[in-house]
Amino acid sequence: MSTQRARSHRQRPRAKGVAAGEQPSATQAVPGGESPDQRMASSPTHIDLSKARRESTPRRRSRTRADRPLYTVEPAPPEAVPPSAPETVADDAAPARVAPKTYAVELDEVRVDPDAAKVVRRLTRYGHEGYLVGGCVRDLLLGRAPKDFDVATSARPDDVRRLFRNSRIIGRRFKLVHVLFGGNKVIETATFRRNPQPEDERGGDLLIRQDNVFGEAHEDALRRDFTINGLFYDLEKKLVLDWVGGMPDIECRTVRTIGDPVVRFLEDPVRILRAIKFAARLDLGVAPDLYDAIVQCRGSLAMAARPRLFEELMRLMRGGASHRSIWLAWETGVLDVVLPELAAYLSDQADSDGLVWKMLSAVDRHTQERDAPLEDVVLCAVLLLEPMREACSGTADRVGTAFEFLEPVVDRLNVPRRIADAIRRIVAMMPRLLDGKSGKFRRTPVYLAAREVMSLYEDATGGAPLTQRLDAVPPAKPAGRKRTRRGQ
Ligand code: ATP
Ligand code: MG
Repeated sequence: MSTQRARSHRQRPRAKGVAAGEQPSATQAVPGGESPDQRMASSPTHIDLSKARRESTPRRRSRTRADRPLYTVEPAPPEAVPPSAPETVADDAAPARVAPKTYAVELDEVRVDPDAAKVVRRLTRYGHEGYLVGGCVRDLLLGRAPKDFDVATSARPDDVRRLFRNSRIIGRRFKLVHVLFGGNKVIETATFRRNPQPEDERGGDLLIRQDNVFGEAHEDALRRDFTINGLFYDLEKKLVLDWVGGMPDIECRTVRTIGDPVVRFLEDPVRILRAIKFAARLDLGVAPDLYDAIVQCRGSLAMAARPRLFEELMRLMRGGASHRSIWLAWETGVLDVVLPELAAYLSDQADSDGLVWKMLSAVDRHTQERDAPLEDVVLCAVLLLEPMREACSGTADRVGTAFEFLEPVVDRLNVPRRIADAIRRIVAMMPRLLDGKSGKFRRTPVYLAAREVMSLYEDATGGAPLTQRLDAVPPAKPAGRKRTRRGQ
């Protein structure tokens, strides 16, 4: 039974900040069939991981926003569809429409990208539907600055292209439009689409292999992964349109799939990593059924497209919440599928506050200080450093052993060769770097990444100032060309 498996994973030794007393736990199961409103009204029913996160990583609070409400919810204006459960509205002239629940919400205008607003307004001026959707709406409602802004529209890609000269159509299978603005800004503008029906696109299983069917706004909301990602914002009317129960989940800060989590994870296993990412990065709880489905479906990650796996793993590491992300992945058994080398290493460690966890905390501190993610080479090296060092210890041929160790990882995750080669060299050089010696290695392009890894190592161990020692030694002179008879 899934809960049984979940429990066995929950019993793993805890990393720093998530030890027994302060441990995230499923406080109460969500009774089946409960409406989103009931969920919002009831006491916390999600696995609240926020306490552990807060204690392991102090968070900086923006002074300017500290006391301002994130948004205001007011009664919907009379002409809007009144809040009610989504229902089908029969219309003789048009196909059945589904009315959303609506929430009058005044978003923080300063944070709404003016170019995204421009795109939405032009679309609606020309008679199309146009909304802000997905991550940007979620982030604005949670009081965060969105990374980027996405627009969903009833307009077909060619219509969008015609409306914006500064745009290009991308994608072969599913066409969408990138509207381009200064500073390399891209507003991704996608036509509403729907989840393919089993008979449309799928083989014998649930896995979605194609995702290219245009649809209506409500279908576009329902095809999305999590309720918090399925909200649409109408800029003109200042309304959140909610077909998926996302607003109650924003209120109670919970990651929940749209529909049955097992089905949604089997359709697209990468959603498992996305759930972990949102829980960790946004400091949210996860619904108990979602947690159990992660444990139950984790094996299906082996079926996911390998480049997507690598990209999502890197996203777990880039967002300033790598410690929490990897901990969740390890606890749920997801790490055993994606990176068994690291999972086995962590499980063998008696010390639940070991170097890997400390380095992950250092990654998060550095990311927050720089306000930008670290290089993928560095992030990948942090994940593999300790298991690789263990594998290489005592061998004369460190490079060869590192190579053998990395091959299955490269194969499983499609790690770019450039990154795999760099990690191999960093691990091979590590004993010398720890002695403060960089020699000719300092002149290679990999050195900067290696120095960053050393800086994280020094931060995690609180030990000798490694980077100072490395910097103090002048770089080795370039090897002089051997004089030959002809060159004399
Ligand atoms: P981030 O802040 O990390 O970019 P995001 O929610 O914007 O988060 P994207 O990967 O940019 O994530 O995707 C944009 C939106 O597309 C999501 O909010 C979600 O609604 C939808 N989406 C993305 N990936 C999936 C997926 N695998 N299955 C269903 N919907 C998805
Ligand atoms: Mg996004």
